[in-house]
Formats: sequence, structure tokens, C-alpha cells
Amino acid sequence: MKVENRDIKYPRIELRTGQLHFILPMNMQYHPIMDKYEYWITEKKNEINKALKHAEKLKLHSRNQEEVKVLINKLIDEYSSEYSIVVNRIVLRKLISKWGSCSSQGSLTFNKMLTYLRDHHFRYVVFHELIHLIERKHTHKYWSLISEKFPDYKEIENELLSYWFLINKKGKR
Ligand SMILES: [Zn+2]
Repeated sequence: MKVENRDIKYPRIELRTGQLHFILPMNMQYHPIMDKYEYWITEKKNEINKALKHAEKLKLHSRNQEEVKVLINKLIDEYSSEYSIVVNRIVLRKLISKWGSCSSQGSLTFNKMLTYLRDHHFRYVVFHELIHLIERKHTHKYWSLISEKFPDYKEIENELLSYWFLINKKGKR
């Protein structure tokens, strides 16, 4: 965290090559927002380090794209009839920053990297996106629906982060 003074009226924050810079007005040495950000960054770094450490223990699955498609379709059939959800379209492709996404038109997109996940996590990702067709945001209601099927969803979410690092480290995208 770097602090700089500049001829400005209000404090601002700039992110340069992964480092946070606090730009403060000339006569200001400190602003409470600095503590908030410092804390947030430390938390994020800890999360990432934990995920990296855990990644060393994970094993990657290997399915071909056809198997991935078949499995996604099977899970969607199962869950959508159970929850009476209508899915319009299922897409499997490369996604840069997430495992899956859903659109308001009822189509679900999944990351090709699902191929490396173990079954439990695979199921979770599919279920996670599908439930977004009932509840768009990560509300309390959303997580309670999720926990009906995946009471361990917090652990899975953490592990998914580890898988993410592991897969990307190996350049398997
Ligand atoms: Zn979500």
C-alpha cells in the first residue's frame, strides 16, 4: 500500500500493477478508507493463499467434452424437473472468469473447465446456475435453496477456487 499526496480535493484510490495506491490531498496523511481497504486486501490475499495451498492436495478429473455435455444434460433434466425450472438453452464454452453463468432468457452457460472437476463439484456448479433461474441474486433465499442439496456449499465454493488456480496454473484452458 502506497500513499501519495497530490493537488486534489478528495482522496482517491488507484490500482497499479497489483498495488494499491492511495492518493490524498496535499495536507492529508491519513484517511479512514485506507484501513478498510488494507483489511480487505489482507483478507483477499489470505483467501488466495489458502486456496493455493489446498490446490496442492486436489486431483484433477479428466472427461472428454462429450462426457461433459452428457453429464450437464443429465443433471439439468434431473434438477429442472424436480424444481420445475424451464431451461431454454445450454451452452458449453470457454469462460474467462467463472464456472458458469445464466441469462434472463433462461439459458445456461458452462465453462469447459468443468471437465476437470470431481462429480460433486460438477453437480454443484450445474445446480448453482440452475437455481439462479429461480433466484437471480445470491440472496438468503438463494443460499437456502442451494443448501437443500448442498449443505456443504461453502466448502465447495472454497474448493472451486482452489481448482481454478490448479487448472490455470497447469495451463489447461
Ligand atoms: Zn451465483
